[in-house]
Parts: sequence; structure tokens; C-alpha cells
Amino acid sequence: MSAVIDTRACDPLDLVREDLRDFGGYRSARSDALQGEVWLNANESPWANVADEGGTLRRYPDPQPVALRNALAGLYACAPEQVLAGRGSDEGIDLLIRAVCRPGGDAVLITSPTFGMYAVCARLHGTPVIDVPLLDDADGWRCDFVAVEREVLARGAKLVFLCSPGNPNGAPLPLAAIESLARRLQDQALVVVDEAYWDYADGESAIGLIARQANIVVLRTLSKAHALPAARIGTVVADARMIAVLRRCQAPYPLPLACVEQALAALSPPARAQTQLRVASVKREREVLTRRLPGLPGVRRVYASEGNFVLVRFDDAQDAFERLLRAGVVVRDMRAARGLGDALRITVGTPEQNQRVLQALAKEGEA
Ligand SMILES: *Cc1c(COP(=O)(O)O)cnc(C)c1O
Repeated sequence: MSAVIDTRACDPLDLVREDLRDFGGYRSARSDALQGEVWLNANESPWANVADEGGTLRRYPDPQPVALRNALAGLYACAPEQVLAGRGSDEGIDLLIRAVCRPGGDAVLITSPTFGMYAVCARLHGTPVIDVPLLDDADGWRCDFVAVEREVLARGAKLVFLCSPGNPNGAPLPLAAIESLARRLQDQALVVVDEAYWDYADGESAIGLIARQANIVVLRTLSKAHALPAARIGTVVADARMIAVLRRCQAPYPLPLACVEQALAALSPPARAQTQLRVASVKREREVLTRRLPGLPGVRRVYASEGNFVLVRFDDAQDAFERLLRAGVVVRDMRAARGLGDALRITVGTPEQNQRVLQALAKEGEA
């Protein structure tokens, strides 16, 4: 007599919209592996633009350049088949919603306060948003994983957006809880972990969980620690089957050549070494702000952060915002966000910039 063991592996394709499972997407001139010398299949001009000096922009770009995929796979310690590069992780968010949620149907779940694009993309797709707010107590911010699971199952959500470390709260989420949530939801939902700020955190990445739990998807970006937000290079890291589906939902030529070249240069070993040093400086400076802000007048609470920002509550956030503005410093006003009516989010800058923040807030009552 053998024990009954549930050996079904999780197949993320079961979570893709049924009407898209056999969808081939757009077949571009780049889709076929043809060989030739004279390329007359894409209605490109036979001459480069006179302003395009190297003539590198005359042809449509490779949709997913092998060199970039390999470099990103190296950076994220996964297989090249597990990465999809797109126009920022913003595009990854949009693709996931479109591939998984029926328009007007299946919901997505967010945990507010959180990054605004999850709800924006859901709204544009006609997808309801379920909010299970983060809990904010004496220890800081926590995700109510029990409530997330309950709401996903009760309301048939297909996507869960978690952010770790969270924007704007800076708190990392425990990997064990993410994995166990994903396991419980494996027949119901994809669990997306947005790691835009992972480089500034100390823990492990959720990327390591994908091999065991194929309904986990991780978002990473070159926009924050790698300092390339204008290049718009973000990455979805997921099970290779899921990546193939997302690729078919993506625009035919999502990556401008100049951006790809810039990204490859930024991922060269010397550039990565510099990035590491700068991340270390931001982490040191984050500790300076976290230690010194609580002693300043009008500062009510400073949350521990593993991102490149700190979330701060004030007795009078308007006054603090204006003082900083008078000192020439622009920070993010969070007061419109749920539960953050007294909060500002301050990005960690250079040591000099951070001193300017501290000095502006230290001057009491001179308005
Ligand atoms: C900044 C940010 C992003 C956007 O990244 P892009 O790659 O520039 O689109 C995604 N998620 C979170 C949580 C962010 O704060």
C-alpha cells in the first residue's frame, strides 16, 4: 500500500488565459530563421538615414538579443530562457495582466500602500483590483499572507503583486511565506514578486524559488541600482514556459538598439563593480538618514528600509515638504496613498544631498 502523494508539478500555462493558449502573436520579419545576403523582407530602406552615422539603425532590431538575454541571465543567476527583457518592469506588469486576466474578468490582488502601476495596468485592462492592505505595527510593515490567500481564493484573483522590498515602505517580504503562498495558490494564481529594489536589500532573491514553484514570477529592472531608467530595460524572470507566452504577447520590436547597447555596457564587469560600490554607499547613507531623522523636530516615525529611500511620517508633512522645497530638495509626497496621510518618501542621495535634507528639516519653526 502506498501513500497518496500529490506529484502534479505546477504548470504555469494552466494559469494563462484560455483564449490565448494557442495564440502565436505577431509574426515579424525577424521570426523566421532565414539565411540570405540581400534582405528585402521587412520594407526597410536600403540606405541608412544620413543622421545615422554608423548605419546601425537601418534595420529593425532583434526582439530579444541573445547577448542581452545572456547578460541578464548572468546578473539574475537564471537560465537565458527564463528572462524576458522589456520596456522597463512596467511592461512586464502590463504583459502579465494581459496574458493571465480575461479583460473585465479575473482580478489582480495588491497590498497597499504599494507601487501604483499594478492598479493602473489593471484598470486599463478592465481588471478588478482587490486590495489586502499591508499591516503597519510597532515592528514595521508586514504582509497579511493569510488574508491574501483567503481573498485570492474567495474572489478568483489570477495575479498577486507583491513588492519586496516594498515601495514606498522599504520592507522586505519573507521568502518562506512567498513560497508557501505560491504553493497554496498554484492552481489559481501567479505570484509576482517585484524586486525593483532588490539590489539594496540584504536577503535572497525570490528567483531561487522559481525552480520549485513555477507560478512565481520575479520582476527586476536596470532602472534603480543600475542607474539606467531612461534606457527602459526591465526583466521578467519566470519559468521558461511562461516567458514564451509573454514573448508572444509583447510588441514585435520592444527593445531599441541604443538601449540594448547601453544595457550591455552597463552590465560589463567594470560597470557592475562600480554599481556595487554605489549601492554600498546608498546603503551606508540610508543608515545615516534612518539614524538621524528620528531626532529632528516634527519627525514622527522613520521606517527601516531595504530600498534606496526612506518613508517618514511627520507631525506636519506639508510643512516638512515645503521646508525641503525651500532648501531646493524635492521629495515624494505620499499623502494621497492609503494610510500615509502624514508621510513623505525620501530617496537616498549623495552624502551631500542627504546632509541638505537633514539640515532643512533641522531648522525649527522658521517659515
Ligand atoms: C521604479 C519601480 C518599477 C519600475 O521600473 P521600470 O523598470 O523603470 O519600469 C517597478 N516596480 C517598482 C516597485 C518600482 O518602484
